[in-house]
Amino acid sequence: MEELTKHCPFCGQVINAAAIKCKYCGKWLEDPQPENQQGQAQSQTPPPPPPPQPEYQQQYAQQPPQQQYAQQPPQQQYYVEEPRKTNGLGIAGFILSLLGILLGWIPLLGWLIWLLGLIFSFIGVFRVPRGLAIAGLVLSLLGLLIIVLITGGFIAGVKEGLANMHM
Ligand SMILES: [Zn+2]
Repeated sequence: MEELTKHCPFCGQVINAAAIKCKYCGKWLEDPQPENQQGQAQSQTPPPPPPPQPEYQQQYAQQPPQQQYAQQPPQQQYYVEEPRKTNGLGIAGFILSLLGILLGWIPLLGWLIWLLGLIFSFIGVFRVPRGLAIAGLVLSLLGLLIIVLITGGFIAGVKEGLANMHM
């Protein structure tokens, strides 16, 4: 007769295997499968639809802190640089030398810019980051060559033009 008994899942007492209600704790012992059929039979009492707004508001309220934490840019470290490592004279000499090459064909202004670029670059070579200063010196020497060639060609052209006009 032991096979016809089972343990109550709620209180653990040994009850009859065919029992649908525990006699010790009073809980109903129903299988989950027939509940669907009973649920169709009990369709006269429709369950009220749960309002989704409170859950959506709770989820929406929990998301903003995560988005703010993800949107914090760690780019503030780029602004923290030591200003003493910048060679202002070297940069100025490099830029002026480059302008001297580009504007070297202008008779007086180009020469003045080229001369300033040579001076700034020469002084900037003795400063700590001398990369641009050396580049400025190289550009100054290159600019001198270009200025001499262009100016010489310009003067020669003017002389030829004047000579042709006099012809
Ligand atoms: Zn029980």
